[in-house]
Amino acid sequence: MSKPISPSSLTDRFDRRVDYLRLSVTDRCDFRCVYCMAEDMTFLPRSQILSLEQLYDVAAAFVGLGVSKIRLTGGEPLVRNNLMSLVERLGQLDDLKQLHLTTNGAQLDKYAKPLKAAGLTGINISLDSLNAERFRQLTRTGDLQKVLRGIDAAIDAGFSRIKLNAVILKGRNDDEVLTLVEFARAKGIDISFIEEMPLGIIDEHSRALSFCSSDELRDLIDTRYPLSPSGESTGGPSTYYRMVDSSSRVGFISPHSHNFCHLCNRVRVTVEGRLLLCLGNEHS
Ligand code: SAM
Ligand code: SF4
Repeated sequence: MSKPISPSSLTDRFDRRVDYLRLSVTDRCDFRCVYCMAEDMTFLPRSQILSLEQLYDVAAAFVGLGVSKIRLTGGEPLVRNNLMSLVERLGQLDDLKQLHLTTNGAQLDKYAKPLKAAGLTGINISLDSLNAERFRQLTRTGDLQKVLRGIDAAIDAGFSRIKLNAVILKGRNDDEVLTLVEFARAKGIDISFIEEMPLGIIDEHSRALSFCSSDELRDLIDTRYPLSPSGESTGGPSTYYRMVDSSSRVGFISPHSHNFCHLCNRVRVTVEGRLLLCLGNEHS
């Protein structure tokens, strides 16, 4: 039986219940992915970002209001000094049922085990290419081998939920869609394909020219691995499919081509403490 909704739980004026918080723990990153950041970035001064103590207080307040899932994100969360101490404290909040992290994977070989021990329950790892040179071009600084070691470390650490995230850009990595699905199948983990969104200030390509729709990718995968809708929803922009011969799920995150606002169950808090009520809108 689901827990009764307390009068203090977060419900918006469209009657959507907010039970999921995406908490950014830094705006900094060791990569400069072409769709996310410019090469030469100016980050927030340290005086403007929330301390680990404040991040914990914000998270705990949301859990007190009925939030049962928190995703730590960034920037790259694993570049935040002493992030582990925050994960350890959050891991002890009884009413927090899911504590997830989205990472570029570059430091997971070092942190996967301690993160699991601290109470992290799921990891999303970004992986846009399995070609080392191309991976470097897309991330500008990333080392594919290190990320692959990170993915293996997450699997070895025993996380029950590991998902790869791939942003597909026309003419850059759209020829790797099936290879990425095959990689996820071989590792026994999930994969989601993300439509590029107009987020972040970029200077390297035109978003209009690079756009690849989820429908295109789904049709392509379906020709090799017939996909059936899984019916699972995370209350967000993802739709999941299953393949008959694999435990891996294939997701599509389609902010452009499918409207999901009516299902939304989440809010965002930025590292300078702004509360955003939408994933695709910077109003706060
Ligand atoms: N640094 C971590 C990472 O890369 O996984 C966490 C933060 S990153 C902003 C979270 C996710 O957003 C990644 O999967 C990344 O590929 C995706 N992303 C970043 N910029 C995007 C954009 N313009 N359009 C779509 N997805 C984007
Ligand atoms: Fe860094 Fe993640 Fe943005 Fe890539 S997508 S630049 S890894 S924050």
